[in-house]
Amino acid sequence: MSDLKQQVENVRSSFGQAVASVMATDALQELRVRYLGKKGELTTLLKSLGKLPPKERPQAGEALNALRDQLEREIEQKKQELTRAEDTAVEVGDRLDVTLPSRGRAVGAFHPVAQTMHEIVSIMQGLGYSVALGPEIEEEHYNFECLNMPSWHPARDMQDTFYFPDEKENAPEGKGQRMLEERMLKGRMLLRTHTSPVQVRSMLQYGAPLRIVCPGKVYRRDNDPTHSPMFNQLEGLLVEEDVSFSVLKGSLRELMNGFFERELKSRFRASYFPFTEPSMELDIECVECSGKNPNCRVCKGTGWLEVCGMGMVHPFVIRSGGVDPERYNGFAFGMGLDRMAMLKYGINDLRLLFDGNVSYFLSGRDV
Ligand SMILES: [Zn+2]
Repeated sequence: MSDLKQQVENVRSSFGQAVASVMATDALQELRVRYLGKKGELTTLLKSLGKLPPKERPQAGEALNALRDQLEREIEQKKQELTRAEDTAVEVGDRLDVTLPSRGRAVGAFHPVAQTMHEIVSIMQGLGYSVALGPEIEEEHYNFECLNMPSWHPARDMQDTFYFPDEKENAPEGKGQRMLEERMLKGRMLLRTHTSPVQVRSMLQYGAPLRIVCPGKVYRRDNDPTHSPMFNQLEGLLVEEDVSFSVLKGSLRELMNGFFERELKSRFRASYFPFTEPSMELDIECVECSGKNPNCRVCKGTGWLEVCGMGMVHPFVIRSGGVDPERYNGFAFGMGLDRMAMLKYGINDLRLLFDGNVSYFLSGRDV
């Protein structure tokens, strides 16, 4: 008897310890099997009752039944505790299996050109510039005449323009002639070839002094691997009193160093644009090789990158904007946003910028 009594006590105490350390419902189920299953510890003891002398059986049976009731009660109690705890845990996400691989999620992002535009605009805003926008379908007048490019100007040949069809072609005789005459007075409509008409429109609207940047799409008839018929430009215009060329140079160095996030060597070369006088172009040191690689694919081994055209605004253009060129002068600069994006983000084919396949950007540089 004392032997069985001892065994009952052993089971009671080992179960007590085991149940206290159970932390999950499936572990509790295992515990139930270990004690109360067909081959469980308590079940084995109950089966052994038959081997006891008959007069000892009732007392022993009573003790074992009491133990079984106790174990079942404690298991039930523990189960309720665990279920409550697990429900709460699900709510706070503690039960998530963090070792599972992620299902992934498509996340939207800015296009590299839009990103570039935002970065440049934000740097220029720091220098006191505001953003000005204008129409992409533009009048010949704003796109060319106001910018010192009259119809006979050879610079118009430099830019192959998308003109809208003349009404004369579709209009009946007589009426078509009148419409053409009216149109000749207003000028034809076209897809703007640069963002410069926004400069004139802004001067007419806001007057001087003025500091603006004009980002936007422009259109030319090029279409080959290095050119697209639609591309993105950003121009800046500053019109104030007594503006010197050194302010322009300083502003652009600030812009380039800010955009590429480091100090870059730069040089200014004389150039020609009809709307600025004098005109210059800005080269920066190659962002890929800093001029150290004679086989560099970005700078073709020259060590320099052409990034920006600029100059002091031609007095004709200031006057076209309704501002007095005797009192005010200023500078303008313009750059290709697509090129700036390609240089900063290491994109080697312009066409990728207009492609719907995002895998290039997601996987780095290997298409
Ligand atoms: Zn280089």
